[in-house]
Amino acid sequence: MEGVDWDKDDPFEEQREHVESPMRRLLFEYGRPYWFSVTVGLISSVFARALDLLPALLLAVAIDSLFGEQEFSEQVPLVVLPESWLPNTPPEQFAFVVLAIAGSFVFGSIFHWLRNWGFNAFSQSVQHDVRTATYDKMQRLDMEFFSNKQTGEMMSVLSNDVNQLERFLNEGMNSATRLIVMVVGITFLLFWLNPQLALVSLAPVPLIAIFTYVFVKKIQPKYAAVRSSVGKVNSRLENNLGGINVIKSSNTEEYESERVEDVSKNYYDKNWDAIWLRIKFFPGLQVISGIGFVLTFLVGGYWVLMGTAPGPFTGTLQTGTFVAFIMYTQQLVWPMAQFGQVINMYQRAEASSERIFGLMDEQGRIERDDEAEALEVREGRVEYEDVSFSYDNNPDERIIDDVSFEVDGGDTVALVGPTGAGKSTVLKLLLRLYDVDQGSIRIDGQDVREVSLASLRRSMGYVGQDSFLFYGTVEENIAYGTFDADREEIVEAAKAAEAHDFIQNLPDGYDTMVGERGVKLSGGQRQRVAIARAVLKDPDILVLDEATSDVDTETEMLIQRSIDDLTENRTTFAIAHRLSTIKDADQILVLEDGEIVERGTHEELLENDGLYSHLWGVQAGEIDELPQEFIERAQRRQARTEVEADAGNDD
Ligand code: ADP
Repeated sequence: MEGVDWDKDDPFEEQREHVESPMRRLLFEYGRPYWFSVTVGLISSVFARALDLLPALLLAVAIDSLFGEQEFSEQVPLVVLPESWLPNTPPEQFAFVVLAIAGSFVFGSIFHWLRNWGFNAFSQSVQHDVRTATYDKMQRLDMEFFSNKQTGEMMSVLSNDVNQLERFLNEGMNSATRLIVMVVGITFLLFWLNPQLALVSLAPVPLIAIFTYVFVKKIQPKYAAVRSSVGKVNSRLENNLGGINVIKSSNTEEYESERVEDVSKNYYDKNWDAIWLRIKFFPGLQVISGIGFVLTFLVGGYWVLMGTAPGPFTGTLQTGTFVAFIMYTQQLVWPMAQFGQVINMYQRAEASSERIFGLMDEQGRIERDDEAEALEVREGRVEYEDVSFSYDNNPDERIIDDVSFEVDGGDTVALVGPTGAGKSTVLKLLLRLYDVDQGSIRIDGQDVREVSLASLRRSMGYVGQDSFLFYGTVEENIAYGTFDADREEIVEAAKAAEAHDFIQNLPDGYDTMVGERGVKLSGGQRQRVAIARAVLKDPDILVLDEATSDVDTETEMLIQRSIDDLTENRTTFAIAHRLSTIKDADQILVLEDGEIVERGTHEELLENDGLYSHLWGVQAGEIDELPQEFIERAQRRQARTEVEADAGNDD
């Protein structure tokens, strides 16, 4: 079932393109461990549906032999049984039929129970495995992937798509087996009971099939439109709730309500369009199957009443057989009506597994060799040699351009320069969030690309601009990544990070819940928790990305003190805008447009009379403004990034 384009602006189109036979992979890779439950489900489903067909047949027998004139043992449904099994007297025969009907209900319900267990156990287990495997894979993808996809889109794969699979594996497979057993079973029974009348009763079936097929074709694009409009509603809502601060402070509630109304109305229209078609489909189906019913009733009724075959037909028709026909034609309608839904569920599940497997097959630029040797840090000497790098979305622009420098073990190197100069990128390359395009980065002589990623990240501590806290206790947040630390070590680390005092003043001290839904900590407090985390980890190499932004002078002093302790005898990379915090660094690199334009100690750079000395002058209040030449350079850079941003927006 190919060729259905569920939504044209699928953000995972690129991933989906490379996936072959996703449903087979789903069933074989993820379904195999649960073959037992799915087999039980399938077999029970066949038996349960078959037993559903039995009462009508038994009723036919009862009517014809008990209330009619036919011999019990001569009835069509009973000729399959050996004559010695069948009772002879009418009371016994009556009891036989009653017991058989009761039996078919009892066994039917047992099989229905087994069928439900089998399909549910199967679909839930597969859903669980697929979800955890997809998450596991997703979080290991390159940063490149995350910066190109929206959180909402990834959430949608992990929740909607995984649920879609569950729906198909449970409801879809269930409806499919019912459809097959009912249609095949009823067709067989009708032909067996009376082939001539069967032709009359089944005449509308091809019509139903064509009608359903046309319906499916027509509704597919409508469903695709619904899906894409749901996506738009979700993105809008997610975006607005995230930016609620801005909405309130810009007083744009009304404007935003209108925008939400627009996307919601669009969803309403698209959905109504699909619903309108659907609610026309069912009465249509009923009319067609009604024709079959009326025809059966007309021909069969005449046949029974008159006792002679109408028109081209021959032979006799028993009342019971006639009743069975009426019941079966009714039982056939609902499974046939679900034919469209089964196809629909299958195609949605196929699109979902394409997204899921596409994601799982995603090849990162960063090759991870799990067999690689562990990084062994002895002195902590770091060398960048002729390093160049571009981000994937703009391969022509070198964000880092032929950068070389060396840091001796235990030294602190500071990176300064204007926003967008590439300072953070230099550090991302060290952490191997991205791989260099040219050149190499070595730690004690070992290329970061040749050691195992786990050992590399283990030896590094990172305190970033935005210290993210997980929902959990303060203690858990400090021990994040060093899970075996005990309370004493955690408190020690907090003390070293100047965080102990404020933590003790929280409602539950170290057990206070923080992060989203927890007690809100200030930026400075969050940073100190992050520093405590780094202290506890005791890394060989420390990376500080503007660790002291956004706080008051007093807090900055506290933080600076703890950082000074932390950086002692540890190779440290620090990015800072406030030059006062890095003036004691062993080496300062000044970056501009991805190149190192100046380097040296604070004193050396001051003498140099370049960008650094002027920035220092401004920050120290010695000069009022940067000299014209630097301002012009900054303006030119600004203009260029704006042009780039505009160009980026166009495509
Ligand atoms: P700095 O830390 O000096 O402010 P960055 O290293 O963050 O500079 O950014 C350098 C340049 O790289 C900027 O032009 C920025 O727009 C671009 N950039 C940063 N991150 C990404 C990314 N994930 N994808 C594409 N471009 C990026």
